Amino acid sequence: MMNREFHPESLMMTHGYKPELSEGAIKCPIFQTSTFVFKSAEEGKAFFQVAYGQREKEPNEELGLIYSRLNNPDLQILEERLCLWDEADECAVFESGMSAISTVMLEFLRPGDILLYSKPVYGGTDHFVNKVLPQYGIKGIGFTSTQSKEEILELVKGQEENVKMVYVETPANPTNALFDLQICREVADKLSAEDKEVVVCVDNTYMGPLWQHPLKHGADLIVYSATKYIGGHSDLIAGAVLGKSKHMVRVRTLRTFLGNMAGPWTGWLLMRSLETLKVRMTKQAENTIQVADFLQAHPKVEKVYYLGHLEEGTAQYEIFKRQLNSAGAMISFDIKGGEKEAFTFLNNLKLMKLAVSLGSTESLAEHPATMTHSDVSAEDRALLEISEKLVRISVGVEHYSDIIWDIEQALEKV
Ligand SMILES: *Cc1c(COP(=O)(O)O)cnc(C)c1O
Repeated sequence: MMNREFHPESLMMTHGYKPELSEGAIKCPIFQTSTFVFKSAEEGKAFFQVAYGQREKEPNEELGLIYSRLNNPDLQILEERLCLWDEADECAVFESGMSAISTVMLEFLRPGDILLYSKPVYGGTDHFVNKVLPQYGIKGIGFTSTQSKEEILELVKGQEENVKMVYVETPANPTNALFDLQICREVADKLSAEDKEVVVCVDNTYMGPLWQHPLKHGADLIVYSATKYIGGHSDLIAGAVLGKSKHMVRVRTLRTFLGNMAGPWTGWLLMRSLETLKVRMTKQAENTIQVADFLQAHPKVEKVYYLGHLEEGTAQYEIFKRQLNSAGAMISFDIKGGEKEAFTFLNNLKLMKLAVSLGSTESLAEHPATMTHSDVSAEDRALLEISEKLVRISVGVEHYSDIIWDIEQALEKV
């Protein structure tokens, strides 16, 4: 009984913080400072040697504080706490999910390279892959959740040596289609050579950091929009990257020189959010079971896209069982009719807010085809079941009966 490995939720209030360094304050203060004072010139030299990779850290040596673009206690402690959920070696926090994603792609891809990515991906990611990266000579090739390993490999036939990254978003937004991370790992291994590593990067925003841990399923890197569940209160924009030290050194170094780290105030807010992460997400997932069952039984609803309703024995169910430990708190449904009916529903909600984004304490509803996914080509929208009748809901922490009441009265107006 001398030692115990505490659960991550038990450590979110204290891990990595030493009160004696901050006048005994129980909470980590906001270190609103640009630079840090060295005790001596020798100390400054030693800190820089580690920060710039000129020497390895001594055992038990902590990274010295230099300048807030490189590190700041509010980011460093937050990063240590985020590592606990995914059991990652290291984490780097960014000023947005998009800066986390774009920094990873810029670090691991070079002109002439090919990026294999799952379809659909978040709209901002889709734009970066298909509109920005081609300007640097980098090509994205998309694959869907129904394609096998052989079919994915067939997509890059003849140009295998140029593939440098497999990028996956699972479950896919907004239909909850699941991608098999084991297959993604096998594809990456097949395309790797002695002198060329193909990295697997997973956008875990939809399920993380509680319900899916991609590093355990073969991913090298995880990216998050911390704006969503990690922040959880619709009051900040932030991102994070996690993974093994060998990859994170590269990510952190590019962050230092792009200068797209989060500031101390955002770091502080995220630490506050992490204290309630487990209770918030658990409540949201519990509410979602009730909401999904209600929708499933409603005569004005044609189809519900919810992981908790996957049919046993199907390939999607098998991936779900292996990869996830919750059905999550995101549901979509096809309303009977089309855009008109979907809009009538959305315009009549009284408790839920009509807004994009997800994972927050309040429930949100939106229309993917004309909002979050309006930039997706008509052909891809048809392929991916993002139709005019689809409505997406992010379930919050309200009393589930109030959410259901709201949905019921809005459906009555349709
Ligand atoms: C919101 C989101 C992003 C982008 O994150 P920002 O914090 O808005 O930059 C990336 N991926 C997914 C899955 C998202 O939901």
